[in-house]
Amino acid sequence: MPEVVPQSETKNSPPPAVPRKGPRGEVTIYPTWCKGCHICVEFCPQQVLAMDASNEHATVVHPEKCTACHFCDTHCPDLAIVVRKLE
Ligand code: SF4
Ligand code: SF4
Repeated sequence: MPEVVPQSETKNSPPPAVPRKGPRGEVTIYPTWCKGCHICVEFCPQQVLAMDASNEHATVVHPEKCTACHFCDTHCPDLAIVVRKLE
């Protein structure tokens, strides 16, 4: 009788989904370059960013929610954001 190999162990099976916890991106904003256009704040899908009390610069308010989608750093007109993907 042939050996039965569970589907999860066959060669072409995708690896089992492992839930990820914690941040996946580290966001740095350089306030001296930020002109306060709100683009990053309005379009971050995770609400990681907000305007500061003066409403002049973006700031990171929920770093733990960043998914490293890179929307903010690719759309900032002043290159004031750097997102580093975490392993
Ligand atoms: S990389 Fe994506 S999730 Fe992270 S702060 Fe930027 S827009 Fe938000
Ligand atoms: S997109 Fe850039 S310039 Fe605009 S608020 Fe965000 S960091 Fe500042």
